[in-house]
Amino acid sequence: MDGLVCDRCGAALLVGESVRYEARIEVYAAYDPAEIVPADLEGDLRGQMRELIATLRGVDPQELEDSVYKAFRFDLCMACQREYLRDPLSRVARPEGAGPD
Ligand SMILES: [Zn+2]
Repeated sequence: MDGLVCDRCGAALLVGESVRYEARIEVYAAYDPAEIVPADLEGDLRGQMRELIATLRGVDPQELEDSVYKAFRFDLCMACQREYLRDPLSRVARPEGAGPD
């Protein structure tokens, strides 16, 4: 095997497949544009910064990085590409009328 396989089902790609697909997914923290008002600049900014640093000191660096940005890249065969497009979020069927949590 050439080593290139579908990351979803494990099928060999480029062997008997006329086409393969790449799925690239980026998940990142979405922020509203920062609006700084004078009140934001008052108070103990150094104290707030020390507090933030102390809070982050106990957090795993990889976990912290993943909470801000994470990218994925997958190779897919044609069958898995079709299934992925049908339900990219792998949502579980909900009863009629059920809203979000
Ligand atoms: Zn596949």
